[in-house]
Amino acid sequence: MVTTVIIGMLCVYLLCFCVMFLVISTRLADQKMGMDVFALGNLLLGLAYMLQLLGGAPGWSAMSVVNHTLTLCAPVTYAIGAMRFFKRPTPVLRPLLALAVTYTVAQVLVHLALGSEARHALLAGSCALLFLLMSCAAVHASRTFARDLRIEMLVIAALIRGICVLNAAKFMMIVGGGLAALDMGGNFQKIFYLYMSFLATVLPPCAVWLVLRRLTDQLRSLAARDPLTGLLNRRGLMDVLEAHFRSGTAEPGFLLIVDIDQFKRINDTHGHKTGDLVLCHVADTLKHAARQGNLICRLGGEEFVVVALGSDKAGVLQLAERMRAEIETLELRSSDRKQSIRCTVTIGVSDSFASTQAVDECLQLADSALYRGKRAGRNRVEWRPAHDL
Ligand code: GH3
Ligand code: MG
Ligand code: MG
Repeated sequence: MVTTVIIGMLCVYLLCFCVMFLVISTRLADQKMGMDVFALGNLLLGLAYMLQLLGGAPGWSAMSVVNHTLTLCAPVTYAIGAMRFFKRPTPVLRPLLALAVTYTVAQVLVHLALGSEARHALLAGSCALLFLLMSCAAVHASRTFARDLRIEMLVIAALIRGICVLNAAKFMMIVGGGLAALDMGGNFQKIFYLYMSFLATVLPPCAVWLVLRRLTDQLRSLAARDPLTGLLNRRGLMDVLEAHFRSGTAEPGFLLIVDIDQFKRINDTHGHKTGDLVLCHVADTLKHAARQGNLICRLGGEEFVVVALGSDKAGVLQLAERMRAEIETLELRSSDRKQSIRCTVTIGVSDSFASTQAVDECLQLADSALYRGKRAGRNRVEWRPAHDL
């Protein structure tokens, strides 16, 4: 009786969270993060438990065969949902249909050859194996592509390991003692379904938490980057510099302002679309000319800032000259591809700085060096002179 109530509650949880996953996936629009597939997984498992409640004692019936197939398909669906969450495009319906047909045929064959106990042992054994693979995959993910979600992945792996152990125990009990292990009044089934309801309650909020983490990370990255060039914006640069200078042993940096010469003329002659193309090409060239330890940011308009960390005056002047020369040799096409465009930049270089508080002052120094470069004819690198201090 108690186990039947637990399974009934389990169905309610699964179906409620199925609806919640569906609602979230519709809100996420084109980037569903696997939520729609998790909803399908919950639906399959909820249906499986409903059939279990309706089917009564374990035995051979069409309802029981469908129940076993759904029970095995549900975790595979969750695994596919997880792959989609990690941006690995994975088909859903075909693999599930193939699994459903194969497993149904396997059930019939095992039942005919070895009897009803063997069919139940097959389900427990298959689930144990599947959950073992899933928990190993979660641990692997925590060490490789999902390092940013390490703790979450390890918690999920531990939770899945629990249901793996319970299925392995069920398998051993069926092999050793027959279908008595599946007695709904027995303690084992009570513990098994209690743990399942615990999982059905804890895992959906975990999935929602993962989606929230992804969304906030995306928002943070959007707030820190310039949408046109993909470079850091001023806020993103300050965040990175703050993190850099927080470590006591951080090396000082030099700051360069790179300003495209006569950019307004490019816009006026070829249009804003071409102007945007030029901005993107200059951004790419700066990235190409940069070395490890260089941060590149679009300050706004046609102005970029490069911060060279762990360099010296000679190294920074070399870097500025390399960037200037690479941009000078760039040959670009207008957006209608009819005209060839060339552009140059003037670069103002400031002295070194060792804290984010000094950035504003360095920007002013680099800006006055830049202004001097513009007056001196553009397309040049200017170092901040001592009397600017
Ligand atoms: P100088 O050599 O003295 O730097 O002259 P300039 O024409 O490059 O400088 P100015 O400040 O006069 O003009 C900058 C122009 O950049 C004006 C503005 O319309 C254009 N601009 C700013 N942001 C964007 C953008 O995102 N896209 C495009 N296409 N143009 C932009
Ligand atoms: Mg300019
Ligand atoms: Mg400017």
